[in-house]
Amino acid sequence: MDELTFLGTGTSTGVPNIGCNCMVCKSSDPKDKRLRSSVYLNVVGKSILIDTSTDLRQQALRAGIARLDAIFYTHHHADHIHGIDELRSYNYIQKHSLPCYGPKDSLDKIRKMFNYIFDEAPLEGGGKPNLELIPIDGPICIGGVDMIPISVMHGNLPIFGYRFRDTAYITDCSLIPNDSKRKLRNLDTLIIGALGMPRHSTHFTLERALEAIDEICPQKAFITHVNHNLGYSKTLKILPKNVFMAFDGLKLQI
Ligand SMILES: [Zn+2]
Ligand SMILES: [Zn+2]
Ligand SMILES: [Zn+2]
Repeated sequence: MDELTFLGTGTSTGVPNIGCNCMVCKSSDPKDKRLRSSVYLNVVGKSILIDTSTDLRQQALRAGIARLDAIFYTHHHADHIHGIDELRSYNYIQKHSLPCYGPKDSLDKIRKMFNYIFDEAPLEGGGKPNLELIPIDGPICIGGVDMIPISVMHGNLPIFGYRFRDTAYITDCSLIPNDSKRKLRNLDTLIIGALGMPRHSTHFTLERALEAIDEICPQKAFITHVNHNLGYSKTLKILPKNVFMAFDGLKLQI
């Protein structure tokens, strides 16, 4: 069965926040424990990761991800890429390089930020991941499933969400251009990021995310990349019937 697993559903700090004593950070509900945002797809026997979050090691162990066929990056912000070194474990097992797809600008930044990985010179001691950065601007077919990049704005930064079959994953977003809205027609499931703040310059607030869901009109939607202002049970109660809070470990059939 083809499946999506939420590996992490928290904003850049994760939830709880270090040093915070608010109700959500102190909550004993496991659904209020959020690692950094990432999803894992198991489709037609292919193993696909969207982003290598800061918490990748813990996430991969928890979800039992034993191999990877491809990685798709949304953008180069720290919370979405800082687990990149953990990809070494898959190189050790699979003994070949891993393809990493994404927007060209973000992959260029990743190449600079992780110079030790992409520098030709061998490392003195320690290992480095064996990765191939492949910029894309259109669909890539992985084992019969088209991964379709969807351009969205994250403040002034154009980044990618991805559509695969009737599901779309859009994390850090403050505006969905009309062109991209057209690519999101007839969705079964829309996964979309929202922060619990009255306003934000680079992310949808919950209110704006709900407006976007209303406009795109999927069968159902899941809120992800949330911060400590959105407690799981309290927020779930105020959401429309077809909108849910994602949580770490949640699996969806796709
Ligand atoms: Zn983020
Ligand atoms: Zn807190
Ligand atoms: Zn970001």
